[in-house]
Amino acid sequence: MSSATELIHSIPVDPLTGAISVPIYQTSTYVQDAPGVNKGYDYARSNNPTRGVLEQLIAELEKGEMGIAFGSGLAAIDAVVKLLKSGDEILAVDDIYGGAFRLFGSIYEKFGITVTYTDTSNIENVFNALSSNTKLIWLESPTNPTLKISDIEAIARIAKAQGCLLCVDNTFASPVLQQPIALGADIVVHSATKYLGGHSDLIAGLVVTKTKELGEKIKYIQNACGAILAPFDSWLVIRGIETLHLRIKQHCASALEVARFLETHPAVEKVFYPGLATHPNHTVAKKQSKGFGGIVSFTLKNDSEEAAVQLVTQTRLFKLAESLGGIKSLVSHPANMTHKSIPAAKRRAAGVADSLIRLSVGLEDAEDLVADLEQAFEKATGAKSKQSTVLSY
Ligand SMILES: *Cc1c(COP(=O)(O)O)cnc(C)c1O
Repeated sequence: MSSATELIHSIPVDPLTGAISVPIYQTSTYVQDAPGVNKGYDYARSNNPTRGVLEQLIAELEKGEMGIAFGSGLAAIDAVVKLLKSGDEILAVDDIYGGAFRLFGSIYEKFGITVTYTDTSNIENVFNALSSNTKLIWLESPTNPTLKISDIEAIARIAKAQGCLLCVDNTFASPVLQQPIALGADIVVHSATKYLGGHSDLIAGLVVTKTKELGEKIKYIQNACGAILAPFDSWLVIRGIETLHLRIKQHCASALEVARFLETHPAVEKVFYPGLATHPNHTVAKKQSKGFGGIVSFTLKNDSEEAAVQLVTQTRLFKLAESLGGIKSLVSHPANMTHKSIPAAKRRAAGVADSLIRLSVGLEDAEDLVADLEQAFEKATGAKSKQSTVLSY
């Protein structure tokens, strides 16, 4: 069976009624036959059948033993950090999601958990940054917004030798393109807000663990701390996942087309897309994933921040907004948006130039997206693309 068929049919038909769509169990508690005698459910913070379907589904998609659904991606990340204790260290990818950076630094450092950041796309850096207290290696691959790729399989071997856990934030790739557990990771997290939900209409997070033992620990933390995903939002994520295969295929195809267009544009300095042969980690990307995703970043000639701001306000189909992974294409200017809180020198050193623009390529026709960028370039920089194909709206 193909993985698309498998995905669609791993969403169960309701055993009680035959309903083909998963029922939404909007309840807080469950009536018991006698004290402590129940049908497997006692209180909805601990278990909910709608959430349970999503948790089973993501575990299957990520080839893990257990899935646990949270109220946001950050709540999922938070639960994983809570596996650690004071004195433990995290070794994390330097180009990490800003919210994870804030959580590690502003919340957990005061509890005695320290974090070392390094460019994990170079294995040697990982070796050098390890210490005897490193208990968790934290990767994102691809990263945001410079789309660096780390060799998950190689780093999983290092984690194993070190006796520490490897967690991969798989938000950008999705399990359709990349399955970190199959590559040796212990834990996968997702902001299901992005590709899994897929329609920019919810906030949700997921954790998947390689072993049941680790999954039970995360579930214990979740029940103790309370950051569960609501039944209706669980249902929305399930519905999003139903079309994940199809959507990701199109996101990848259109993103490649957009990246190729940008590569030839005279106003563009550099294009970041792991699917381009010019990307420094293209070989690793090809080895460990089935496709290169829907996010493309680029910088402008002379690194003009002014032109970048002009450009992101001139696009019509690409809507100016944070977030990614939805049906509608989005554009953002990290230096003034997601990465504004990072000091400029530090931000530039991490590769986020003043003119860097990030695109989340949606499901509009790629031709229309390219035409939209062309007209925005012309307005913002006066530069026309070489193969001028400007379409009218
Ligand atoms: C958005 C995002 C998160 C945080 O998820 P929320 O659902 O917004 O809490 C974490 N990691 C990555 C890579 C993200 O893009």
